Amino acid sequence: MNTPQDTPIRYLKGIGPKRAKVFAQAGINTVEELFYYFPRRYEDRTNFVPVAGLKPGEIQTIRVKVLALGQHDSWRLPAGRQGRRRFNITEVAVGDNTGKVSCVWFNQPYLANYFKPGTEVILYGKVELYGVKLQMSNPEFEVLADEADARLAAGGLVPVYSLPAGFSQRSLRRLIKNALDKYLPRIKECLPYDIRKRNNLLNLARALINIHFPENPELQKEAYRRLSFEEFFLFQLPIILRKLKRKDKIGIAHKAEGELLKDYISRLPFQFTASQKKVIEEIKLDMASSSPMQRLLQGDVGSGKTVVAICASLMAIQGGYQVAFMAPTEILARQHYEKVKAEKKLNIKLLTSSLDKKEKEKIYRGIKEGKIDLVIGTHALLEEGVRFRKLGLVIIDEQHKFGVSQRALLSAKGANPDILIMTATPIPRTLAITLYGDLDASIINELPPDRLTVKTLLFEQSRKAEAYRLARQELKAGRQAYIIYPVIEESYALDIAGAKKMFSELKTGEFKDFKLGLIHGKLKQEEQDRVMLVFKSNKIDMLVSTTVLEVGIDIPNATCMIIEHAERFGLSQLHQLRGRVGRGSAESICLLISDGGTIQASGRLAAMIKYSDGFKIAEEDLKIRGPGEFFGRAQHGLSELKIADPLAQMQLLKRAREEVVKLLNLDERLENRQNILLKEKLAQRFPDYEKFMIAAG
Ligand code: ADP
Ligand code: MG
Repeated sequence: MNTPQDTPIRYLKGIGPKRAKVFAQAGINTVEELFYYFPRRYEDRTNFVPVAGLKPGEIQTIRVKVLALGQHDSWRLPAGRQGRRRFNITEVAVGDNTGKVSCVWFNQPYLANYFKPGTEVILYGKVELYGVKLQMSNPEFEVLADEADARLAAGGLVPVYSLPAGFSQRSLRRLIKNALDKYLPRIKECLPYDIRKRNNLLNLARALINIHFPENPELQKEAYRRLSFEEFFLFQLPIILRKLKRKDKIGIAHKAEGELLKDYISRLPFQFTASQKKVIEEIKLDMASSSPMQRLLQGDVGSGKTVVAICASLMAIQGGYQVAFMAPTEILARQHYEKVKAEKKLNIKLLTSSLDKKEKEKIYRGIKEGKIDLVIGTHALLEEGVRFRKLGLVIIDEQHKFGVSQRALLSAKGANPDILIMTATPIPRTLAITLYGDLDASIINELPPDRLTVKTLLFEQSRKAEAYRLARQELKAGRQAYIIYPVIEESYALDIAGAKKMFSELKTGEFKDFKLGLIHGKLKQEEQDRVMLVFKSNKIDMLVSTTVLEVGIDIPNATCMIIEHAERFGLSQLHQLRGRVGRGSAESICLLISDGGTIQASGRLAAMIKYSDGFKIAEEDLKIRGPGEFFGRAQHGLSELKIADPLAQMQLLKRAREEVVKLLNLDERLENRQNILLKEKLAQRFPDYEKFMIAAG
């Protein structure tokens, strides 16, 4: 029999091709991956309510016996349902020694198989008063048909999962339970014994069973601790490995002072801010030294990171080296390109996947022969054909959009080139160390002095017309505006306007005197780029958009941003969106339209009005959302953490980090017998791991 790791999930009973596909979409292909599909929460079923104590209107749990079962068809309308149709109704009378209650399910005739009179069941749902009778409609249920079932419910904490299509809580629980019963004994422990012992960690099998079906609340906590430790550990390992490797490497000592740089700076139409000067000095020192630079440049939107990156490029180029500058989207790459292409003394090229083969090949040649000094591009830079003659510096914009392995891939195109990574997403300091522990950090913590703070105003829905009027004023003065919607298509259920419909409404209504454009995520990338370019060349006055409006878009003539249903956006997201205006010397406005909503939503809007500094906003965001949610997003490279919570479990994270350092100091290549399984697990988690080890080594 195979291990959970190499058993495809379709070998499990009850998994046909359809279900296997649903799981595959969620990234679950093997039984082991199913084990790592953790519950979202638990229901405490120790508190069973005696039937006599049930209160109508409340969600309650009862443990009862089936007394009688009946099924019939009905034309009667179940409460709250539309249309007159034939219904199959399964009605089950259940009770304990304090009373009776009736349960009904609609159109699930197969349920009759489960509710044999005399069987013990647990029911969970809302209790209603139906006439004078107590009734539960469509309650969740657990049939305690056998020993295993009874045990499953006995711990009290029952797992509740996010359900893949076609599953009920019950069927998913059964599936996971059966898989655990069958395959758990063969699971391979990845954490070496010493480490588990020193940190009082459960073994993997015990942790997995108790994360899904806790024997008791204490063991659930222990399981959570063990699995979080494992995540931290596996997450930190490559980071620290890179750091160790870097110390042994010899990179390029660039000629960081020189004519190209001096000349460029002397021609800039502005003075550097103190922060920019400091950061440029840090980079200069780093690049001049022979150990490879790996530097993270953090700075709020509009703080002037790009100019700094160009300075770094010149430091490399003036000594005869080439530079690769990678941005996450074509439009951003092009924007960077536009900023430097006028530099006469340099050969600068833009490389994106939309170029045709011939153009690409020409650029490949130029790169290979060393004729191109600076190539700016997207993922296209990672392609095989891109070979440098003398790559000296790699610059990566918006770090969180790229994986670590992509970073490694690009730098492997040179011999230990220097690396500069830029990000506009501020993160609290303690976390920065853990996440980017292999990098040195530079921070630009001020905006250019000519920058006016974006005036931010809040309008209730009923006063929306005023916001539109302000926007029209901007447009009449020859400036441009963005109007952002949370969704593409409107939703009646939520009463939200969508970008598409509003585009056609606005262009014949409130903004009929102006040219409007529409951009959203369902348009092809080329189409999005095309619309952005038209907007940039000022042929569109107002752009109707969803949040696809890219981070980093720099159009100084856009001075007005309207955000509709502002309560539906996260705080950091609102801040990034607002960063699209206020990029020139004219005063800009950001108009939030919202009726508030939850307390949290109001908190976010208040913070937007009060603060303009990105680091301050990030702190507030953290306070409002709590660390779990803040880092729950697929950003910061933290998406690999499924249950561990770096802020709430700071101590555990530190322990994991210490253990990683200890382990790597003893066995850097993970070749000792007790570390073999760990290496396997790493390779499995990070498919590019081998490549990456090579790049790191
Ligand atoms: P970031 O990449 O950090 O979001 P950019 O580098 O795109 O910011 O800079 C935003 C704008 O500010 C650009 O148009 C840039 O030319 C300009 N800029 C950069 N540094 C300064 C400065 N010290 N003073 C005035 N304007 C600046
Ligand atoms: Mg930028």
